[in-house]
Amino acid sequence: MPCDFLSLANIGVQQLQPYQAGKPIEELQRELGLTNIVKLASNENPLGLSDAVKSALQALLFNLTRYPDANGFYLKQALADKYTVSCQQITLGNGSNDLLELVARAFVTSDHEVILAQHAFIVYSLIIQAISAKAVVVPAKEYGHDLTAMLAAITVKTKLIFIANPNNPTGSFLAQSDLYAFLTKVPSNVLVVLDEAYFEYVTITARGNSLEWISEFANLIVSRTFSKAYGLAGLRIGYMISNTQIADILNRVRQPFNCNVLALKAAEVVLADEDFLNETVALNDRGMRDLTQFFERYSLEYIPSMGNFITVNVNSRITEQLSDKKSGDEVYQLLLQEGIIVRPITVYGLEDHLRISIGTQLENQRFKDALIKVLNLKRN
Ligand SMILES: *Cc1c(COP(=O)(O)O)cnc(C)c1O
Repeated sequence: MPCDFLSLANIGVQQLQPYQAGKPIEELQRELGLTNIVKLASNENPLGLSDAVKSALQALLFNLTRYPDANGFYLKQALADKYTVSCQQITLGNGSNDLLELVARAFVTSDHEVILAQHAFIVYSLIIQAISAKAVVVPAKEYGHDLTAMLAAITVKTKLIFIANPNNPTGSFLAQSDLYAFLTKVPSNVLVVLDEAYFEYVTITARGNSLEWISEFANLIVSRTFSKAYGLAGLRIGYMISNTQIADILNRVRQPFNCNVLALKAAEVVLADEDFLNETVALNDRGMRDLTQFFERYSLEYIPSMGNFITVNVNSRITEQLSDKKSGDEVYQLLLQEGIIVRPITVYGLEDHLRISIGTQLENQRFKDALIKVLNLKRN
């Protein structure tokens, strides 16, 4: 009788469900024979690579024989200069997902509890599950983090708290004053990972500077990425900033060559490209306004978002005609037929919602036209 390898896997791994990524364009092309597909499913930058990054990558393309710099010297230097931190506070990762997992692997065992919010970025749950630790999921407040309830959930077993600000997939955002007050109350031996994957999209006035808090709260780890506003999702590179002792621990646990040659260079180049970032944020602001106005015009409820995506309830306009009710998954399928890929978020417990990444003006228009068609929307 063949061996049941699942029963051999670690207890947490036995119950692990694979991460459901946004559908790749090529896959939909293959399945439906469609061309001219619009993908608004993974919060990527609709502008593509910056020109400076393209040139830098071209210059390096045939220079990949040597291992990358295991310490990422130049990128760390660039980050340290930009954010006024020391290089010793920085840990680089193969995307920030790599780093989120690293924190858990370095500090959390199956005896510990990790606190996260309902509807929080699903990668947190997967990471906790994979190491057989206990996830303590705190009910959301208006789709966002309930910091008071999260504080109340802390026990002697709590090792780590994950907070995404803004959160994905809801786009909810915590005011800096609330976050600060929260940090003053978290015991110093409980780590707080503040995941700021969408930091660059947050309006300057709302943003604050969480990095300045690290000297006051040694248990705070700030996580950011080049995958979103900087447009490097395919290259996989992100970073964490923490106190130097935590960074030292993370750097011991990580794979020495977790960041590749092209990613290190592209990140260094794009970090200096303020025009590209400004253009990205301006395009996002226009697209966000366009889509929220569109939802209002057709009485579709959406969750106000500080990110580069917006989550909308596709059933909110239905009052009497309940027979018209379509789940987010069904609407997602119908949109696929129109060549539009968005993100169903049933796994987040939001089965009436879809998450739409903000695209170019043209991509947003294609999405709006398709949604009008599949939901048979009428202006109010
Ligand atoms: C997209 C995203 C990330 C970034 O993942 P990478 O591994 O850096 O591509 C991290 N956290 C949240 C909340 C995200 O939405």
